Amino acid sequence: MTSRAILAHPVLRLWTGLFGVLLVAGPMASCARNPVTGKNEISLVSEGQEIEMGRQASQEVAQSIGFVDDPELQAYVAGIGKRMAAKSERPELPWEFHVVNDAAVNAFALPGGFIYVTRGLLSHMNSEAELASVLGHEVGHVTARHSVQQISKAQLATLGLGVGSILSSDIAQFAGIASQGLGVLFLKYGRDAENQADQLGFKYALGLNYDVREMANVFVTLNRASQAGGGGGRLPEWLSTHPNPENRVSRTEERLDTLQTSLQNTVVGRDEFLQQIQGMTFGEDPRQGFFEGSMFYHPDMRFQLEFPEGWKTQNTPSAVVAISPKEDAIVQLGLAGTTPPREAASKFLSQEGVRAGDATTRSINGNQAATSYFQAQTQQGVIEGIVSFISYGGSTFGLMGYTAQGGLQNYQDDFQGTINSFNRLQNSAALEVKPATIELVKVPREMTLTQFNQAYPSTATIEELAIINEIEGPDSVIPRGRTVKRVVGGRTQG
Ligand SMILES: [Zn+2]
Repeated sequence: MTSRAILAHPVLRLWTGLFGVLLVAGPMASCARNPVTGKNEISLVSEGQEIEMGRQASQEVAQSIGFVDDPELQAYVAGIGKRMAAKSERPELPWEFHVVNDAAVNAFALPGGFIYVTRGLLSHMNSEAELASVLGHEVGHVTARHSVQQISKAQLATLGLGVGSILSSDIAQFAGIASQGLGVLFLKYGRDAENQADQLGFKYALGLNYDVREMANVFVTLNRASQAGGGGGRLPEWLSTHPNPENRVSRTEERLDTLQTSLQNTVVGRDEFLQQIQGMTFGEDPRQGFFEGSMFYHPDMRFQLEFPEGWKTQNTPSAVVAISPKEDAIVQLGLAGTTPPREAASKFLSQEGVRAGDATTRSINGNQAATSYFQAQTQQGVIEGIVSFISYGGSTFGLMGYTAQGGLQNYQDDFQGTINSFNRLQNSAALEVKPATIELVKVPREMTLTQFNQAYPSTATIEELAIINEIEGPDSVIPRGRTVKRVVGGRTQG
């Protein structure tokens, strides 16, 4: 199953509410000792609640982003992570480490010890020591309870606002599509927290005898990837929540300078790491949906959808989104579980702050559907639009178009047109599309990157090749016997 690219978009979360667990549990301020600093701090979240929150959110990650289907790779990453966690200040947490099926370059930690790296991040890494320093950083966010502190703040804000605010914050999130949905997962920590996580990551990686000089490479590579527009065309999200790579490189160097122990017998693990990513999908996986102009195709789920012409579109792990040229209207598609359309619609429309308008249960291209006009009160004011729930392939899809109050006249044809275009995918080229993969080459003789690219052609650009291999540029010389990544196959950009 790799059909998760558009699951669990905010429409779904309008019902579940990510903070549900907190609201049920109720606020209980207590003073707890920080496991890393030893300092006492006020926390609204007990360790039990922390684990419970993390567990709930981790189910959302599994459903909405999904894991890379490679048990050996998963075990490899989890093995490093768990060895590290066992030696940390909080070894008793239910630590989990997963590679998520996302082309974005990212890593993140949930409260309670649920840690994720994307395959986009792995495709940019070149050694086990680099991976260990990323895992160590995320472990550090958990051991120092950064995510809990952040959630405590979010919880305070949520509690004051009541149930209706779940809708408001989700709608607000739609509007900020750069935030990629799944808001709580991409918490921004403060600079001090990031610095502390780097410091802890350094310590943990060293504790497992990894060559921590590799840590600086991570920041350099992520910075290059971000300047180049990101691996596979996506901005590295880890960088957007972890700014200032230059400072982090120099801080790492300072840590190395003051290091008392020798790094002589430490492990880099270059070939061990690379073997693990041989054959891994590179860049966006078109099986999980791709655009051709305003047409969106989803080969694995076998449907297509046409967005309004000229709108900006984006396929994220949590939703497929289109924004009008004036950026004052949005159409969004996501999965809304298996609730039948009529029931899904009435649930949506019965939320506090939502008012239903004209509704119909007319089918769409032969698929059972329930469609309704609606108005909703949000923090940004009143919005109005059309929501449609469509049953297809055993799932219910939620499609919503909305704009500010008074704007619906201008956009209802666009919204209706998109909803009515939802249909079975029959185009065989689209149905059979395959992703690009990473293939390793052990270079038989010394050559430049340009020569390498001539001898072993890639479907990635030479700039991308340089970044993912941590090679400076086209003229840089690759020594004989070195293992180098190339990118093979994939969809030619239409
Ligand atoms: Zn961080």
